[in-house]
Amino acid sequence: MSIQSACYENPVIRPILTYPEPGLKEVASEVPEIDGALVRTIDDMVETMYAAPGVGLAAPQIGLSQRVIVLDVDHENKGKHLLKIVNPVLAEHEGEILWEEGCLSVRDYVAEVRRAARVLVRGYTPDQKEIAIEGTDLLAVALQHEIDHLDGKLFIDRISRLKRDLYRRRLKKLERDGREPTTGSLL
Ligand SMILES: [Zn+2]
Repeated sequence: MSIQSACYENPVIRPILTYPEPGLKEVASEVPEIDGALVRTIDDMVETMYAAPGVGLAAPQIGLSQRVIVLDVDHENKGKHLLKIVNPVLAEHEGEILWEEGCLSVRDYVAEVRRAARVLVRGYTPDQKEIAIEGTDLLAVALQHEIDHLDGKLFIDRISRLKRDLYRRRLKKLERDGREPTTGSLL
């Protein structure tokens, strides 16, 4: 093994912040420049997403307040449809879909959320190429869910106040019981 390969940093699984961590409420900054450190962080995000496992992860979920998301809605063919998007922008949206969502940052809770049924997202790849991603169904939901994270929004901000209060109470009870809640299928 050469010194160089010994110095190569393998992707690392990062801890995922969970509600009510204040960092999840912040609006993330645009990435001014994609450098080597960011590319490595994006690889860490991918590793963290697969390990969770989740179909998407946004940088604020690992404590980085920058506009970066990763997604893979097809874990059967892991990596084949992997998306890494820097500075994603929701350019088009149409229709309506109701989807049961969970989130790696919201423990032990899923709820139906109303989203656009089709979206077009523009952004950049880590190697600085412009991309446009069209998504329907789960991909449309996941893109909107991850971009919400960049705006400091969680899916529980999109459900009724009553449901959100019920969740808060349930979370307190889980914490009181000293049980670490499990997470379901997640974004
Ligand atoms: Zn999420």
